[in-house]
Formats: sequence, structure tokens, C-alpha cells
Amino acid sequence: MQREITGMMIYYYMVCERKLWYFCNEIQMESFDDNVRIGKALEEKSYQKEDKHINIDNIVNIDFIRSKKIIHEVKKSRKIEEASILQLKYYLYFLKSRGIDGISGKIDYPLLKQSIDVELNEEDEILFEDMKSKIKDLIEKETPPKENKKSICSKCAYYELCFI
Ligand code: SF4
Repeated sequence: MQREITGMMIYYYMVCERKLWYFCNEIQMESFDDNVRIGKALEEKSYQKEDKHINIDNIVNIDFIRSKKIIHEVKKSRKIEEASILQLKYYLYFLKSRGIDGISGKIDYPLLKQSIDVELNEEDEILFEDMKSKIKDLIEKETPPKENKKSICSKCAYYELCFI
């Protein structure tokens, strides 16, 4: 069965290929992880008057829409910003592929009282075509990519699986 690539998969691909493999091969530990719980609580408590969690075909999961033309993603910190930007761009790319054009994005960091604007461009679209095929190849492998210790590992839900 052809597997659809989701925004979360794009995010994990950027953060750690091994994490992506675990996530896509039914090894999910995120709900037990304190960092994930904090992120979810933050999301719930922030912007309570806005629409939230708009899910389209399980591929995009948008935190909320403040106006008809802007989708928002709430993040806890700016540590993994490049991955967050690509995740949000992927939502824009997916919406565009479904005929919903002229949308832009914003990443909100409520704890920092900051936000950044995100727009999709032609280079991103080419990048996503390539990335989707790389992700499909990666997650179909029998075993995960080798662990590669990096600064985010100590806060990763899969840390014990990789290093203990
Ligand atoms: S602990 Fe590090 S290597 Fe292992 S899945 Fe998490 S980020 Fe990747």
C-alpha cells in the first residue's frame, strides 16, 4: 500500500532519520515523553479562542487558523526551527496540491512571545518531491538507520532505545 507522507514525517526526517524510522514502524514512545507532554499542554493553553487541530486526510495537522489565509503552528522553542519551518511549508505544499492556494504560514512561540512568517516557494516544492521519495525508501527499510548522537538526543523520547 502506498503510504502518504505527513507533515510530522517531514519534521522527523529533518530532526533524525532514525527517529523517523521508529515513528513510522509502529515504535512510538512520544506520549510517554515529558517534552512531548509539555508541548501538547502548551498548545492547549495557548490561543484558546482560535480554531485548533485541523486535520486533513491525516497528512496535515494544523494547530489553528487565525484567518482564512494563514495557518499557524505552535512550537515550544526555536531549537529545531529548520525542521519546524519545513513541516509548515509541507502543509502549504499539500494544501496547494489540493487546490488551496494563496495560503501562508506562521510559527508561533508563545513562551518566547515571538512568531515567524513562512511562505512556500518553487524550490521548496522541488525539495518536497525529492524528500518524499527519500522518506518512502527510508521507512521501508528492514532496520533503522544507525544511531548518531547529537544535541537533541538527551531529550528524545527514543533515547533509551538508542543509547541504553
Ligand atoms: S535518541 Fe538521537 S539518534 Fe536516537 S532517535 Fe532520538 S534523536 Fe535519533
